[in-house]
Amino acid sequence: MKSKTLRKALLICGITAAAAVAVAAVVLAARPDLRFRVKEMLGAGRGKAVIAKAKEGETSFEEKGLSEFLEQENVSFDDSLLLVNAKYPLNGDEQTDIAEYRDSGVLMDRCIMDGYKQLADEVSDRFGDKLYIMSSYRTAEEQAEIAEEKDSDTAAPENASEHQTGLALDVYVSGFAGDGFLKSDAGQFVNSSCWEYGWIIRYPQGKQDITGIRYEPWHIRWVGFPHSELIYKNSLTLEEYIEFLEKGEFYVFDNYIITRQNIGDTVKIPDGCQSYVVSYDNTGCVIITGKR
Ligand SMILES: [Zn+2]
Repeated sequence: MKSKTLRKALLICGITAAAAVAVAAVVLAARPDLRFRVKEMLGAGRGKAVIAKAKEGETSFEEKGLSEFLEQENVSFDDSLLLVNAKYPLNGDEQTDIAEYRDSGVLMDRCIMDGYKQLADEVSDRFGDKLYIMSSYRTAEEQAEIAEEKDSDTAAPENASEHQTGLALDVYVSGFAGDGFLKSDAGQFVNSSCWEYGWIIRYPQGKQDITGIRYEPWHIRWVGFPHSELIYKNSLTLEEYIEFLEKGEFYVFDNYIITRQNIGDTVKIPDGCQSYVVSYDNTGCVIITGKR
């Protein structure tokens, strides 16, 4: 008698589980955006990017005045690694370089223009879609207005939005904007491949506790190379990545040397690099990225 009840219970459990799987399969079949989200959540196809501290003797450095270093011909200075959030708001002292993008009326930081063109061209070549910009640079006043209209988990308060730096863009393709961006092939491509063009999805899924902002598949942020690859392939947020880079250490990845140091009169410059990109990170440090 007992085993009959058990068999019955097991049968009901089995049917329920099978029904749940069938429902999930039907939902996933009808929702390419959810399928994509599951795949991304599992990290499928991201590949590996291992960043390691430089070993003893692997890199040497020269101590130099920061302003003297910035004047070198092979050094470019930009804002690409500014961390902007509620904990590290902008204070108005940042030297952003805002300009109009190719006679479009769209304002953005000059350092993201080439990277945006490359990403938009790739989307157009692959899918025949034009990658449009819904929102780019915003003034502090504009951000304050938006923050007043929207929830705090989608719009950052004044000075805590990276739109004020001109380094972030909200993008879409015709018919697919906002959360719906992921229902398009172009949107999925931007989310899984923008790192190849120097961009990251700044507010990834499952990281709201760190970024303070819910998943925004449309908000892309320029960080440059090789940071975009390291952040994407290691499933990090910009917050986690900057914290990972210990002050004063030198890291090696691919042809790059990366070092994050306190802003002082002098900085340690890794030797043997052909070019350098220097950016403040808005946490009191400067990040030097040398390419060998
Ligand atoms: Zn945005």
